[in-house]
Amino acid sequence: MEKVDCIIVGGGLAGLSAAYGLASEGLEVIVIERGDYSGAKNVTGGRLYVSPIRDLYPELWKAAPFERPVTREFVTLMGDGAHTTIELASERFATPAYQSYTVLRARFDQWFADQVMEKGGMVITKNRVDDLLLEGGKVIGIRAGGDDIGADVTIIAEGVLGLLSSKAGLREEPRPQDHALGYKEIIELPPGVIQDRWHLNEGEGAAHLFMGGVTRGLMGGGFLYTNKDSISLGIVVGMEAMRQAPDKVDSYTLLDEFKELPQIKPLVEGGTIVEYSAHAIAEGGIAKVPKLYGDGYLLAGDTAGLSLNALVTVRGMDFAIASGYYAARAVIDAKERDDFTAASLAQYEQSLRSSFVLKDLETARYIPHTIENPRLFTHYPQAVSNLMEQVFTIGPGPSKKLSSTVMGGVRKDFLNLQTLKELYAMRKI
Ligand SMILES: Cc1cc2nc3c(=O)[nH]c(=O)nc-3n(C[C@H](O)[C@H](O)[C@H](O)COP(=O)(O)OP(=O)(O)OC[C@H]3O[C@@H](n4cnc5c(N)ncnc54)[C@H](O)[C@@H]3O)c2cc1C
Repeated sequence: MEKVDCIIVGGGLAGLSAAYGLASEGLEVIVIERGDYSGAKNVTGGRLYVSPIRDLYPELWKAAPFERPVTREFVTLMGDGAHTTIELASERFATPAYQSYTVLRARFDQWFADQVMEKGGMVITKNRVDDLLLEGGKVIGIRAGGDDIGADVTIIAEGVLGLLSSKAGLREEPRPQDHALGYKEIIELPPGVIQDRWHLNEGEGAAHLFMGGVTRGLMGGGFLYTNKDSISLGIVVGMEAMRQAPDKVDSYTLLDEFKELPQIKPLVEGGTIVEYSAHAIAEGGIAKVPKLYGDGYLLAGDTAGLSLNALVTVRGMDFAIASGYYAARAVIDAKERDDFTAASLAQYEQSLRSSFVLKDLETARYIPHTIENPRLFTHYPQAVSNLMEQVFTIGPGPSKKLSSTVMGGVRKDFLNLQTLKELYAMRKI
């Protein structure tokens, strides 16, 4: 059997990041990707937070094909008949080094694969890994299309569902409770139109999130990111929330409904849909992160459950790139020791624990449970919009004092036992 230093299952961001690190140090590495090219099957919102990973491969980010730096943040709380948008324009976000950029995966991942190949790594596309090869509990390589390839270490970066790794007993089977489903369109629009619609200066980008009446009250929301000459528009909905919903709905129809809303229609008007995709998202948080290493293998990126939906920030790509980086470091050090046992590869988990990856997931431990509360998607967006509507209303008769209007709304929708209990629960997030 042919044997290399490292095989990587999956040429997404986690796999490519690991391959780049390994190839840069001269190790023999093969990435096997089932898509026609890296980026063909990968879905993100998407905005990449670069700040946490800037120092990992500093030479890469200067030349990366980012779309736009995100300088403006919008959050729209959608109620029935009224919605409230908060717009944050920060000078800090608009000053290099930018903290985050919008990306298109078809472009970004292909570029990353090219960087791997320039360093001497192999990225084999249009090939699916069918099985992991195990010998006495140790992963010794992979089987793809009838061929076996051996490796000292196999890095499994196969994405969110982890089908190969769960089949091999290296992690749990995926459960609906720990996942959401995302639907997304890329809609082309002229750059000038994008600038006008999101109040942007030339070369800047926006992230726009929508909470409330976009998922029929189910856990989830809408997202919109501006690119150079397109926008990425989508919705995310909790799989378990969908399953439990009394009103049965085909989840893919939610995106169509979203686009028809009067708040969204003018934003996408005149655009041409050029890409449609759907994908699962890991939402289990730190509680669902499996054991990350064993004899002859490491798990990275979404396969390792490294993603975080904190409602106003959505992350996974930075974790994927960082986990690939630390996986590569662990393999390089294991190679120096010529020891690929679990004990030797445990360094990987230690590195993730002392990095932002597992620290941030630990900090956010209670978020997945907290955001299961349906009132976040029904009561609160409606209550905020009702209150704002009252504040801005001048009726036919004499007006109340502003303070009475505000206190009336606050008392009605916020000063009650239920809300206080929920606020108390939120102290943990
Ligand atoms: C709708 C949506 C919105 C999101 N928004 C954001 C966002 O705004 N910001 C953010 O940071 N994150 C976001 N995420 C999360 C982010 O996209 C993921 O965390 C990230 O893509 C994980 O990268 P990965 O390399 O682990 O997995 P992937 O990118 O999924 O890569 C896995 C790769 O493995 C390949 N593969 C799978 N099985 C096999 C096999 N058997 N053989 C060969 N190849 C295989 C797949 O084709 C794929 O290319 C979002 C996700 C979704 C779905």
